[in-house]
Amino acid sequence: MGKIYKVAVVGAGTAGLLTARELQREGHHITVFEKAGKVGGIWLYNPRVESDPLGLDPNREIVHSSLYKSLRANLPRQAMSFLDYPFVKKEGGDPRTFPGHEEVLRFLDDFARDFGLMKLIQFGHEVIRVELVDELTHEWVVESRIRKTESTWESKEESFKAVVICNGNESEPNVADFPGIDTWPGLQMHSHNYRTPEAFENKIVILIGNGPSAVDILKEISPLAKQVHLAVRTPSFQMIRVENYANAWQHSMIECALKDGKVVFQDGSIVDADVIIHCTGYKYHYPFLKSNGIVTVDDNRVGPMYKHVFPPSLAPWLSFVGLNNRAVVFRVMELQARWVAKVLSGTVELPSEEAMAVSVEEHYSEMEKAGVPKRHTHSLMMEEVEYVTWLATQLNIKPLKMWKEITVFSFVEGILHYGENFRDIWDIDKWIQKIDSSD
Ligand SMILES: Cc1cc2nc3c(=O)[nH]c(=O)nc-3n(C[C@H](O)[C@H](O)[C@H](O)COP(=O)(O)OP(=O)(O)OC[C@H]3O[C@@H](n4cnc5c(N)ncnc54)[C@H](O)[C@@H]3O)c2cc1C
Repeated sequence: MGKIYKVAVVGAGTAGLLTARELQREGHHITVFEKAGKVGGIWLYNPRVESDPLGLDPNREIVHSSLYKSLRANLPRQAMSFLDYPFVKKEGGDPRTFPGHEEVLRFLDDFARDFGLMKLIQFGHEVIRVELVDELTHEWVVESRIRKTESTWESKEESFKAVVICNGNESEPNVADFPGIDTWPGLQMHSHNYRTPEAFENKIVILIGNGPSAVDILKEISPLAKQVHLAVRTPSFQMIRVENYANAWQHSMIECALKDGKVVFQDGSIVDADVIIHCTGYKYHYPFLKSNGIVTVDDNRVGPMYKHVFPPSLAPWLSFVGLNNRAVVFRVMELQARWVAKVLSGTVELPSEEAMAVSVEEHYSEMEKAGVPKRHTHSLMMEEVEYVTWLATQLNIKPLKMWKEITVFSFVEGILHYGENFRDIWDIDKWIQKIDSSD
């Protein structure tokens, strides 16, 4: 039996649930703080949007979920399964391989119930402070608050030996910046606040970005909108099929927006638009974390972070699960959660603080040499296979046979091959069988 600690987990989305299960397996005493009334995090669809559609007002009431009503998973359920808990089709559910968001929520809900996690979660508790109050004994205080009335809150403090941060990283909008953004008279919003297409009927809409949200929103609004214009940094692999839309055009990024409603693109084209939707991703955001400046967010790099999980000087007492994006994130989070739980119980060892700090610096300088911008620090991209294999080795589990093939890159290839209707055309079972029998 390893060491047992009192551990706080912030958030009961996918990362928080996986972390709670792994900590429970190691015998730790766990409290999960969740500000919502249910599990699921981003998968808990909320028809409400924020009062500031761009998400810039720091005093706005936060709506956590960024899902739009029609959202379907962009990975097949096989790639969103956990190691010993497959995301199987269930009676009465959504049987599609790329299911709608309700099915993913149901999967997470079932997972929480089947592993007895509900009793560990304090729902309606928003964490407002996580602070190391005693560096020698590693005592952390977690302050949380619950709403009593419309305008009053009650807060409480509790001490823990370790804290795992799983608050998600797709709720705080990152907005594009260009001259004239503040004085442009049209409606500007972030995709975080997009739910349904009706409001865009007969409108001239500019979508900034070329990620999955931009592609989905284009597909959904173009039948209604008068015109859709895409402003992209680099022409997207997904957008090459923009010619399939009679009323959509791809441009370079926005040069400036004018007071008369016109928007000028860097390629010289000008569009008189009604709406700009920023599909420009999200920012890491830890308003509750008081780490004496040890953990910082700089240009979307959360650092210093050993292997995206442990800040060397606070390890293993503070950790983060779920920082990575552009990856098959459910499985990455599962391995990270297991790593944290086993490191805490002493079954798996971390290198020294100095060695971890050196490893972090090496990672940063490799990125710099390769010309990868800081903001992509946690985008696994090409490193996914190597990272997952490394985690599996720490945990003494066999690397997944199909990992290489199931990474986001294979899906990019699939999307390229099958086009934007990949979710309905691509026979994933056949594809997986082929990979499985390939060695
Ligand atoms: C539009 C969109 C589509 C996506 N599609 C896919 C997909 O198809 N497949 C896929 O694998 N991934 C997809 N993702 C990625 C998705 O974010 C991950 O799948 C995953 O759900 C993230 O889990 P998480 O636990 O890290 O964060 P979240 O799901 O965001 O959970 C964080 C939890 O922490 C809680 N919380 C936050 N702050 C506090 C606080 N201060 N106190 C208490 N609780 C707090 C929140 O209420 C929430 O429940 C998508 C993301 C977006 C935005």
